[in-house]
Amino acid sequence: MPKSPDLATNAAIPCAGVIGFPIAHSKSPRIHGYWLSEHGIKGQYTALEVTPEHLPAFVQRVRADENWCGFNATIPHKQNIIPLLDGLTPEAKAIGAVNTVFKKDGRMWGHNTDAYGFITNLKQQSGPRFNGIKTALVIGAGGAARAAVYALKQHGISVCLTNRSTDKAEALAQEFGATTMAFDALDLKGFDLVINTTSLGMQGQPALHLALSALPVHALVYDIVYTPLQTPLLVEAQKRGLFTVTGLGMLLHQAVEGFSLWFRVTPAVTPALEQTVLK
Ligand code: NAP
Repeated sequence: MPKSPDLATNAAIPCAGVIGFPIAHSKSPRIHGYWLSEHGIKGQYTALEVTPEHLPAFVQRVRADENWCGFNATIPHKQNIIPLLDGLTPEAKAIGAVNTVFKKDGRMWGHNTDAYGFITNLKQQSGPRFNGIKTALVIGAGGAARAAVYALKQHGISVCLTNRSTDKAEALAQEFGATTMAFDALDLKGFDLVINTTSLGMQGQPALHLALSALPVHALVYDIVYTPLQTPLLVEAQKRGLFTVTGLGMLLHQAVEGFSLWFRVTPAVTPALEQTVLK
């Protein structure tokens, strides 16, 4: 049964949370809970199941409750929440989706930290290899793909898009200045980076199989799916000697800015945090 959006704050402490439908799977409470305790902050971060029909009432209640500093929004709210807010940051506007809401000067702002999380994780794991990435193939055209394409283009990387539903890939490519390739006739030849942004490879989903032998030996394979951390695609790429990038770091890095906006401390992404989230 979907819960009503009861904020249930009973003390004057800074509060934030994550809303989605469903939400039980979210790892965000673990991330923010870790940082709250690491920094000795008396604050609260909870996962709240909010249905699309309850979204306007939820936003109103956060607006009215001064303990609430903001929240994360996940599926299915990342786009529907936009008209309920007072303004968008340039990133949220360009990506067309909001994953982080914060209050400033009495107004509620929508921000997007997925692009930052995506590119920071890639830079951190790939190290000096990052500078050699000139061309990328992005598989998928959903919300995560939008953030990935935006971040890649911001770094001057030329992007080719492919998606099961061709119309979505074409629309996204047009919006961000990318090219497209047919999903059922993929040719990986010449790409420096291949990224899976679909849900294929996730626990309970079929694996994503690609003809990796066509990739140059220096190519990187990045899977933003993080359950499991080593997806079948990454295992296959490693067997071929390709450098791989896992997806959990994207989730951890996207959380940094929200925490800092709500609780006024910039937290660090550390191996200890990664282990806590993986448990
Ligand atoms: P979304 O907006 O629902 O998009 C899903 C994408 O997956 C679409 O491109 C969809 O293609 C494709 N897809 C789904 N099932 C498919 C199948 N059987 N065959 C081929 N393509 C299929 O979801 P999202 O928010 O972009 O998230 C996508 C994945 O990224 C999820 O696994 C999510 O957990 C992960 N993610 C990770 C992070 C992170 O921080 N690491 C952040 C966000 C998302 P169609 O358009 O044809 O339906």
